[in-house]
Amino acid sequence: MAETTLDNVTKVFTDDDGSDIVAVDEVSIDIEDGEFLVLVGPSGCGKSTTLRMIAGLETITDGEIRLDDRVINDIPAKDRDIAMVFQSYALYPHMTVRENMSFGLEESTELSDDEITDRVEEAAEMMGIGELLDRKPGELSGGQQQRVALGRAIVREPAVFLMDEPLSNLDAKLRAQMRTELQQLQEELDTATVYVTHDQTEAMTMGDRIAILNDGELQQVGTPLECYHEPANQFVANFIGEPSMNFLDVDVRETADGATLVGEHLEYAVSDDIADSIEGRSDVVLGIRPEDIDIERDEGRQAGGHEVPAQVSVVEPTGDENIVYLVLGNDEFGDDTELLDTDRETIIATIDGMSTVNSGDRVVAHIPEDAIHLFDARTGEAVH
Ligand code: ATP
Repeated sequence: MAETTLDNVTKVFTDDDGSDIVAVDEVSIDIEDGEFLVLVGPSGCGKSTTLRMIAGLETITDGEIRLDDRVINDIPAKDRDIAMVFQSYALYPHMTVRENMSFGLEESTELSDDEITDRVEEAAEMMGIGELLDRKPGELSGGQQQRVALGRAIVREPAVFLMDEPLSNLDAKLRAQMRTELQQLQEELDTATVYVTHDQTEAMTMGDRIAILNDGELQQVGTPLECYHEPANQFVANFIGEPSMNFLDVDVRETADGATLVGEHLEYAVSDDIADSIEGRSDVVLGIRPEDIDIERDEGRQAGGHEVPAQVSVVEPTGDENIVYLVLGNDEFGDDTELLDTDRETIIATIDGMSTVNSGDRVVAHIPEDAIHLFDARTGEAVH
């Protein structure tokens, strides 16, 4: 049990022609005791490097990593009291499951043989692989190998678990099942876990908190719902949520009783508190999530207030919902080809799977004011 602190941690690699690659840039995170923290971000953003520095598999260029109050920068990986589970499982092919799980325990702990056997059997039971202890990894399915890799981490009873995309080699169904199992296991063990994934759904469903990285820089740390409802910037807003948030460039026009956001196809009056938060700005980016947009067939009526006229270009049914692509504006597009070819502003709305709209339909899209996000047009920082 321990609290892990990353204090301005930086990693600079030097590539073959001598130039520097800043893989991790002054990242600071406090990982609380017993917490499930998910490190998430696109490929190459520095997730694995961060995890490897915590594990002791990568040196730290600058900054400090602490386990409770102890600085562990220079402590070898094997002495850190941290167990890591890899995407590739990293099992020894010539050893049985039992040997894989107990390997290293003899040297790194003072446990007797009986105690080691007990621990291995208990962890195997927890992972549902009690029957497989005498098999070799080659005789196991991918899912079973993953359980062994997790079991091997559990027997060490470490202060912290580190997991690098541990489910990515499993098929979609098994991955979903293992997600739930892993969460339950983590709650049971009550041991801090840092879990790396590039999959925002995995991050949202598994993490107590998520830490979002981009280009080596930490963008936001918060609960999944905080990151969803109050994204710190446009990158987080875009990364969290599926389909992604829509963004529209708008000018700010100050009016006697507030402000109006003026876009290519939009005149959107906002209330005082929003007007206050964008006072003095000439332009912002308006963000709206697909699930917050309502659409209605226009039946010849004018779009008013917080509505935008649009024409449906594509409808993608997923079963419980329909993903609807909307070309904004009043122009009539004759057929599907014209609709799809247009480079006009398009937004996506998700609506109930039972509602019927078809490509070509003219609609009005309602953008509720309490659901809009506003971002600085240059830095992308959230301003509302
Ligand atoms: P992925 O999801 O693709 O695994 P990641 O977010 O885990 O990506 P890292 O593997 O941490 O990203 O890499 C971060 C950056 O550091 C990348 O630009 C990568 O090319 C670079 N990098 C990683 N390891 C090395 C290395 N040993 N030498 C040079 N550059 C490296």
